[in-house]
Amino acid sequence: MADTTIIQVEAALVGEDYALTGPSEIVISGGLIEAVRPLSAPTMDGPRLLAIPALSDAHNHARPLSSTSFGCGGKPLETWLPQLAVMPSVDPYTAAAASFARSLRGGVTSIMVHLTRAMGLTPLTEEAREIARAAHDVGVSIGFAISMRDRNPLIYGDHAEVLNGLDPSERDLVIHTWLRPLPLVGEQMALVDAVANAVSDMPGHIDVQYGPTGVQWCSEELLEAIARGSEQTGRRIHMHLLETRPQRVWADSAYPDGIVSFLDKIGLLSPRLTLAHCVWAQPDELALIAAAGARIAVNASSNLHLYSGIAPVPAMLAAGVSVAMGLDGCALDEDDDALREMRLFHLLNHAPGFGDGGSGDSGLTRQTALRAACSVGRAGLGLGKGGVLAAGLPADILLLDMVALDRDALMPVDPTDYLFARAGQAHIVEAYSKGQQVLAGGTVLGVDLPALETSLRAAYRAGLPAKAPLVAAWPKIEAAIGSFYRGCC
Ligand SMILES: [Zn+2]
Repeated sequence: MADTTIIQVEAALVGEDYALTGPSEIVISGGLIEAVRPLSAPTMDGPRLLAIPALSDAHNHARPLSSTSFGCGGKPLETWLPQLAVMPSVDPYTAAAASFARSLRGGVTSIMVHLTRAMGLTPLTEEAREIARAAHDVGVSIGFAISMRDRNPLIYGDHAEVLNGLDPSERDLVIHTWLRPLPLVGEQMALVDAVANAVSDMPGHIDVQYGPTGVQWCSEELLEAIARGSEQTGRRIHMHLLETRPQRVWADSAYPDGIVSFLDKIGLLSPRLTLAHCVWAQPDELALIAAAGARIAVNASSNLHLYSGIAPVPAMLAAGVSVAMGLDGCALDEDDDALREMRLFHLLNHAPGFGDGGSGDSGLTRQTALRAACSVGRAGLGLGKGGVLAAGLPADILLLDMVALDRDALMPVDPTDYLFARAGQAHIVEAYSKGQQVLAGGTVLGVDLPALETSLRAAYRAGLPAKAPLVAAWPKIEAAIGSFYRGCC
């Protein structure tokens, strides 16, 4: 058959259990894995390769460049988030293509995009088409949640407290930047439908979703409308929940009967829902999330960078939650390396020592880490079964350089040991997305990533002078926001 590709590898992690096999042949046809079969001899010519499923990033925002390059590093979410306003708007195609290409280079072929900062240079329907085009050109499948919010635009509380500490020009700047009126609930709901219509003829997988940014940012009226809309249309929902300690404090005060119970009561919890973070969720809340069939996307590096803490992954698993791995655009080295992220995610959440001592909180194993990183998140993106090397499933595959992984070459060693001890994006030689080769020699084939990043840097340098007043005023605004949280939490 014309479109059949055959890959021969020295080893592979195959099936639902990610079991290690020896020399194997993977046959790809029509975008699917047709067969994975053992080879009697090691692979012939060519590099020694380890095949693993490509990863699926269950929570991301498709940020064009790291916000640290804009002076936003080293602070908690509550000041980091408003400071993102110093980033000028740039061409949405270039921005999204660069982000998707870095994600692919880092090992993922499907990405949940929560679009919380649209460029706004064109109507969102047009911007969404540009983002869909970028995903298709790079060769990744995306979930696409539209940001929805209508309360607490600056802090979790009355922003007068922040405004009072500023002089008039700074106050005007704050009002103009963060406190402009937001669209009504009906308008926000209609926009999601309009975006879904606008991208319906675009090639590639793009699953448009409701993207409430978080309970502290969304009125009950908005959340109820989303719960109803999702129930009626089947549209998925992607939302942040209990990411930081200040959010926990706010939630306990706003919802004394429980924030997750509230979400359950209004019908927001369902298998259509993915919740990002849940760092500060309690066991009873995790039990409700699990019972509803919603999943949680854990973003270990992002939580560390933003001083949010370490998500209670063992408790999530013990509660029966489907745990997926996300990168949140903030891998440990800000390079979108999903293999390193999986390593960190596993190491942070493995049971200490020899196990759980019977507590049931057994933590992540290599198998459950691989499942979270490759397979679970796909459901949140509206993708079918996958993230597993098995016949009949989508051919989303990474080929890793076994020679580089086994750098000392002293004796036969299980390559899974190397995967969970030292693998990173530099080891990815090739990647396949739905059967198409999208990465060769570590280089993204569909777009020119270095050229995209060069062009983005030039656009940002050109746009930044217009942000000078905000950059100048920011330290004072940041101090005022910080005082609010130090006082209240
Ligand atoms: Zn996020």
